[in-house]
Amino acid sequence: MSGFVFSEKPIAIERGDGVHLYDADGTEYLDVGASYACVPVGHCHPEVVAAATDQLETLTYVQGSYPNAARTALYERLAEVAPGDIDRVWLCNSGTEANEAALKFSRHATGRSRIVATMQGFHGRTMGALAATWKTQYKEGFEPLAGDFEFVPYGDVDALEEAVDEETAAVIVEPLQGEGGVNPATTAYLEAVREATRDAGAAMILDEIQTGLGRTGSMWAADAHGVVPDVLTTAKGLANGLPIGATLVREWIAADPGDHGSTFSGGPVVSAAAGATLDVVERDGLADHAADVGEYLMAELESAIGDQVREIRGTGLLIGVEVKRGANPILRDLALDHGILALPAGRSVVRLLPPLTIEREHADEVVAAMEAIVG
Ligand SMILES: *Cc1c(COP(=O)(O)O)cnc(C)c1O
Repeated sequence: MSGFVFSEKPIAIERGDGVHLYDADGTEYLDVGASYACVPVGHCHPEVVAAATDQLETLTYVQGSYPNAARTALYERLAEVAPGDIDRVWLCNSGTEANEAALKFSRHATGRSRIVATMQGFHGRTMGALAATWKTQYKEGFEPLAGDFEFVPYGDVDALEEAVDEETAAVIVEPLQGEGGVNPATTAYLEAVREATRDAGAAMILDEIQTGLGRTGSMWAADAHGVVPDVLTTAKGLANGLPIGATLVREWIAADPGDHGSTFSGGPVVSAAAGATLDVVERDGLADHAADVGEYLMAELESAIGDQVREIRGTGLLIGVEVKRGANPILRDLALDHGILALPAGRSVVRLLPPLTIEREHADEVVAAMEAIVG
């Protein structure tokens, strides 16, 4: 039996190296989607591969109740890089699970149930995270989901302040909506979320699953906005392509999180890979590099493309090009005519979120291809 959930693309990918992917015939593709931001330091980065391989051979797995050096080191690394005084870490296997834990911990620590989420927000596909996700298409036929969720327009300070009160357990928000169309939040909006949740005794959950790890030009988007949430979730690229998620929390949440667990939490192999990924991101200054190349790419795109484009927006290497016709034909032309693999964000946005190791010369290739297609 073949798979049935994903619709498959006509290109069979066999090998990856840095910013490139190769199909079975050896055709090279420039990867500017990074399979949804999952390979921040590039495909098959030798240091990540070595760390994972060594750990695979030493100890593939041990249950979480036995301390293990790779896991302990990752707890420490994540506490070090987390914004402000966030220093407690819960490890899991994916983004949706990281958010699921964030929602559970917030409800337990506050003793409240109401969660405020944002329109166009995306937080995952399990029943709790899905309840915080906006798009009807993802929820249809799966109800009832987890209850007591309320949606407010993204970026609207008044609506947010109105929604948050003494019954609110948490507000969950992305600092830049990825899946929802590449919509950056302003600092003023995130500050308002911070203030409203603090005043109400609720948790601010910042979903940095797509925006974190240097992608938007700082380790976390939160850093650039100067906002420290109570809970920050990360996943996607954290182990450069191996499955992992993390829920980073402040002490007041960690003090009373309730009973939660997961068999594979902090497995040694993914922990070793994540530690190596964080090392490379920091040592190679990939956040600054993302800011630099991202700014260059946006500016070049602005001057190259014409009136088929409605808007170009984003931060660092999370860029959306909103087009007037659908994004899918453009993505197909990019792949088949120009050897460039990008992503959609909704129906009308071409999303660029390449490995952070992309150079200006690769950005030039993207610009030339976009100019040929929508110039
Ligand atoms: C991808 C994503 C998720 C879900 O992560 P999964 O690993 O697919 O479960 C949640 N939030 C955001 C912002 C994402 O981009």
